[in-house]
Amino acid sequence: MEDCIFCKISQGVVKTDFLYEDEDCVVFKDIHPKAKTHLLIVSKKHIDSVMEANEQDEELLGKLVFCSKKIAKKLNISAFNLQINVGKEAGQEIPHIHIHLMSNFAQ
Ligand code: 5GP
Ligand code: ZN
Repeated sequence: MEDCIFCKISQGVVKTDFLYEDEDCVVFKDIHPKAKTHLLIVSKKHIDSVMEANEQDEELLGKLVFCSKKIAKKLNISAFNLQINVGKEAGQEIPHIHIHLMSNFAQ
């Protein structure tokens, strides 16, 4: 997607420090943190939102959630909240699928 900031970030076009990266996703800090630790787990594949995901994306969606465990273990985060905003009215600002990982329990 040409004008998508999360595509640009995940492809390295807009430089951002990644806390984690694999073939499916990148993880970086939210620019406007709402918790002591506020990370974004962002799919490398552009999908507008959960509602636009298709059956072939099922495994990818699971991987994004599993990624939250990997990054939490890596950063010694003992408890956290995951949030996915779906649709503008629900607060989705960036139409590129991502999970918020928020925690005030980082060690
Ligand atoms: P949404 O509202 O779509 O669920 O979440 C988008 C999040 O991305 C917001 O919390 C916002 O602060 C964050 N964000 C928007 N643009 C950027 C950016 O360019 N860099 C980073 N690191 N975060 C961004
Ligand atoms: Zn995108």
